Amino acid sequence: MQDQLDLGFRIPGTPDSVNCTNYFISKFEEIDSNFTYNLHNFTTHLTECQNVLFKLNENKSNIVILGAHYDSRAKATKDPISANRDDPVPGANDGASGCAVLIELAKVLYAEKDNLSCQIWFLFFDAEDQGRDNAYGIDGWGWCEGSQKFVSDINNFYNSSYEYFDNMILLDMVGGVNLQFINEQYSTSSLLDELFATGRSLGYTYQFPSNPTSASIIDDHRAFTSVGIPSADLIINFWDNPGWPYHHTTLDNSTYIDNSSLEITGKTVEQFIYNNYIDDPDNSYQGNYPWSQDINLPNIEIIVIVIVLFSVIGIVVLIQRTMKKISEKESDLVNNNKGENTLFLNP
Ligand SMILES: [Zn+2]
Repeated sequence: MQDQLDLGFRIPGTPDSVNCTNYFISKFEEIDSNFTYNLHNFTTHLTECQNVLFKLNENKSNIVILGAHYDSRAKATKDPISANRDDPVPGANDGASGCAVLIELAKVLYAEKDNLSCQIWFLFFDAEDQGRDNAYGIDGWGWCEGSQKFVSDINNFYNSSYEYFDNMILLDMVGGVNLQFINEQYSTSSLLDELFATGRSLGYTYQFPSNPTSASIIDDHRAFTSVGIPSADLIINFWDNPGWPYHHTTLDNSTYIDNSSLEITGKTVEQFIYNNYIDDPDNSYQGNYPWSQDINLPNIEIIVIVIVLFSVIGIVVLIQRTMKKISEKESDLVNNNKGENTLFLNP
């Protein structure tokens, strides 16, 4: 991981970004000098960008995608010191961590490739992290541009007549201190649930808690769910987290990386692959394959709106009933006066 940081800031369109993709290629060529890879070049906001795709077990028709973004953010828009907000983010956790785990997974899964019943894509996204944080941002850029471009061109990278996608797992901010994953709501729930169960079975009960924080995060997996590929985002609470408060700041550096967080993430994904894809007739593992079920919690905003709406309706009904009672009493009084004059005649 430190290698990526040593390359400098991996801002889209910069020489350091190109050096980073060359670094990935060199790492995969260390594993196998013939490792198949594709560069997916695209231009956005007049900037030359590139996703990088490595393929393992191309003879298998069902594909598992393991992804991470490698670009680091051009501006530290959430830095507590306002003078730093035009400085680039080192991107140790937000970027380099997920890529480091992908490289390690490539090493271990390559060694097992003949025992695996799936093809695996290791996919490194450019241009994920340049969107706007509230008022601050990089002019014109959106989030997750690299993954969206990739998915729109995905037919160029596989043969749809006999190849198909089983699932996609995204790793984002997986290396920080105090790692704890959230229940990300755009993820396919049956896939994310299985990853949580896998992590917990390995003893990682703090990192995969039984009652995780829920939130919907715009991230690179959404482009894949939008075309029907079950996808899950392994990501942390990065917006309100005293355990790792460095998101989009100049402090997202290696000081706050914990190697055991990287290892826990890698081991969990590795075990998920073995559980589902080890070629062994005695393998009786029952996960959530084919991850078709997707039950997500309603957004907290929607819950709040519903509560407010019901409260307002309740109050209106209450007021109407009270008014009705008052007017009934008034008409009773009027009737009484008209009739027996009992009320006002008594002294
Ligand atoms: Zn980010």
